[in-house]
Amino acid sequence: AAKLTGTNRHREHSPELDATAQHHAELAAALRRGLDHGEFRLLYQPIVELPSGAVIGVEALVRWHPADGPVVSPAEFIPVAEHSGLIIDLGAWIIDTACADAAVWQHRHGANSPRVNINVSARQLLDPDLPGLVADALHRHGLTPDRITIEITETAVFAGGAALSTVRELRDLGVGVALDDFGTGHSSLTLLRTCPVTTLKVDKSFIDDLNGTAEQEAIATSLSTIASTLGLRAVAEGVETLDQATRLHDLGYRYAQGYYFARPAPADQIDAVLNAPVPVR
Ligand code: C2E
Ligand code: MG
Ligand code: MG
Ligand code: MG
Repeated sequence: AAKLTGTNRHREHSPELDATAQHHAELAAALRRGLDHGEFRLLYQPIVELPSGAVIGVEALVRWHPADGPVVSPAEFIPVAEHSGLIIDLGAWIIDTACADAAVWQHRHGANSPRVNINVSARQLLDPDLPGLVADALHRHGLTPDRITIEITETAVFAGGAALSTVRELRDLGVGVALDDFGTGHSSLTLLRTCPVTTLKVDKSFIDDLNGTAEQEAIATSLSTIASTLGLRAVAEGVETLDQATRLHDLGYRYAQGYYFARPAPADQIDAVLNAPVPVR
């Protein structure tokens, strides 16, 4: 009886936890059904060269279109997909779809086709099957590895030792690896000594703060200098205005991404963007 009381008391004292767990379980089940019913779509956001505005890459960004409701953003469902393990199957779909679209662009535009950046989450990076999955998708779609960049986060690399060897295997395949949200993790610089990335995506928070103050500009400049010193590309994330774009170019940035240049769009709208670059000078 004492044990039962204890269990009941625990339940009574955490109704919010129960409600959250219940909500997550329902969402996880809906995501599974959504994947089985083809409710996910990829949008692509251009990554441009400064100052020409030429599109050199695109980032694949997933959206969920449930049959019975409005589109859901990844910030809402990726954490649930991670927690439930569905991210493995959803991630495989994302990799396959992005490679299929990349192959169409490579076929159409050859060496000038945009590289496609694919986000992978911590759990995917800990999956020893990830490099094999990527290799298989490249092979099936007849895509060369240099057309693909896998975006990872510092947090994911620190999640476990296996993540680092997965990154090395991805690099051995010939695909690029970008460190996303660079500068926001707790050990960004340490990571650069061991993790063989090809690109740093400088977090939007450093780009937002570019308001002409000496400190903010010094930080933004240092981040691009670190990248070029190490032979890496630096991409400024979340560029929303022409002022920011021109300032970033002055500070040494060669690549940028953000609403100023283009919003994320379906694959069939990317050709139009390739033909109409937005120069900053
Ligand atoms: P992220 O990888 O850092 O992606 C950049 C996010 O910033 C995207 O949000 C993009 O739409 C948004 N963004 C781009 N330019 C601007 C700008 O100028 N201003 C503002 N305010 N935002 C801008 P989105 O698509 O909602 O994705 C959010 C996050 O969800 C991503 O951050 C990424 O961590 C995750 N995510 C998205 N797609 C995938 C995916 O296919 N797989 C995984 N594992 N995670 C994904
Ligand atoms: Mg990303
Ligand atoms: Mg990012
Ligand atoms: Mg981000």
